[in-house]
Amino acid sequence: MDPLQERDLRHIWHPCSQMKDYEELPPIVVDHARGLYLYDTNGKEYIDIISSWWCNLLGHCNPEINEAIKAQLDKLEHVIFANFSHEPAIELCERLAAIVPPGLSKFNFADNGSSSVESALKMSFQYHYQTGKPEKKRFMALSEAYHGETLGALSTGGTDIFSKIYKPLLLDVLRVEGPDCYRCSYGKTRESCGTQCFEKAEALMEKHAGETAAFIVEPLVQCAAGMRIYPAEYLQKLRAACDRYGIHLIVDEIATGFGRTGKLFACDHAGISPDIMCISKSLTGGYLPMAITVTTEKIYNAFYADYAQGRAFMHSHTYSGNPLAASAAIAVLKILERDRVLDRAAETAVYLHGELAKVFADHPHVGEIRHIGLINALELVKDRDTKEAFDGAQRTGYQIYKAALKEGLLLRPLEDVLYFNPPMTITKSEIDRSVTLFKNIILAFPFSA
Ligand SMILES: *Cc1c(COP(=O)(O)O)cnc(C)c1O
Repeated sequence: MDPLQERDLRHIWHPCSQMKDYEELPPIVVDHARGLYLYDTNGKEYIDIISSWWCNLLGHCNPEINEAIKAQLDKLEHVIFANFSHEPAIELCERLAAIVPPGLSKFNFADNGSSSVESALKMSFQYHYQTGKPEKKRFMALSEAYHGETLGALSTGGTDIFSKIYKPLLLDVLRVEGPDCYRCSYGKTRESCGTQCFEKAEALMEKHAGETAAFIVEPLVQCAAGMRIYPAEYLQKLRAACDRYGIHLIVDEIATGFGRTGKLFACDHAGISPDIMCISKSLTGGYLPMAITVTTEKIYNAFYADYAQGRAFMHSHTYSGNPLAASAAIAVLKILERDRVLDRAAETAVYLHGELAKVFADHPHVGEIRHIGLINALELVKDRDTKEAFDGAQRTGYQIYKAALKEGLLLRPLEDVLYFNPPMTITKSEIDRSVTLFKNIILAFPFSA
């Protein structure tokens, strides 16, 4: 262990980590980064194929985003956002209003994804409360959902590793068995799918519509669940059912937004608009913490009244609408548009999937290579035919993660799901390098069946 690693471990409690693991794998101290690459303090290079937790959108230290932040820094670093404003936030909202799904036009800022989910849940409840339906105070969500770590957001999540221990503290959320297309309980394949599994959501909505404020969902990809990808038709059915039952549709685009799925927002694949949408992560290109809860005039208007009526949304975060983050976000939107980043990424996405399929399509331990946009996920299984998973205690994904780090590839799997979720700007030669490294790591890995 080098001195910086020792100093780190003396004080730092890293996120989402069993700190004891760091005895064997101490923290990698990053000195600088550029594009797809991270460089540690010893000069070792790492390919950041997971966009540093799915947020780095246009490469690290993009010169234009850097410039935008530096220019803003010398003008205004931060200001209270209640009753005060600034041009970067105004311009950002104007630009976003033109590209978010139709009908969304009001923007409420937070500084991280979980907080924007909290805001969405409170907003939905308060809307119903103030429009004569105070009994609508429960939320519906999918199994294996992930919406963040604060208690409200965690309540809507359905992944035991994050939430189980906190059950006594959590809201009583109505849970719908979500679409699991790799292990479809209706025996369908992706090709023969008719989203029959939506009947489970429909049944629960019919039964509990009267007490339900909103249904929150990750559109098309349940990322933390292992990049589980489900059809757009499911979202369309959900939108229609939410309308029928008077339930808000909250779409959590925190991970999927800004082109990750091949369209600007995953909702765009389904051609639907939610009542409330949460965005964060790639919003600032992965530079600075910012999140926005975006909603409709209709919801906004239910809060608009004389002060004495007490209908205001009394929700705030100190760093709401931070100007530095807003200037980064504007730079991101300019680059996306000017460089036609999504169009170019559509081509590289085809290439990336093709290269991964060439190497892994017949691998005995790769159950499926699911993909959308540049996201490609390999689900490792003990047995391809039965889809039986590896024993969790073996921590197969984690062992591969460690092996890959040695070789300079940052994978960070979700249990036994290994995935690429690279920046939109990854080039074909960078894909070649990454896939070759990845291939060598997997082919050398001693899978114990
Ligand atoms: C990352 C994420 C969140 C939480 O965002 P934080 O900024 O980490 O609080 C919520 N929902 C989804 C889908 C996410 O991927």
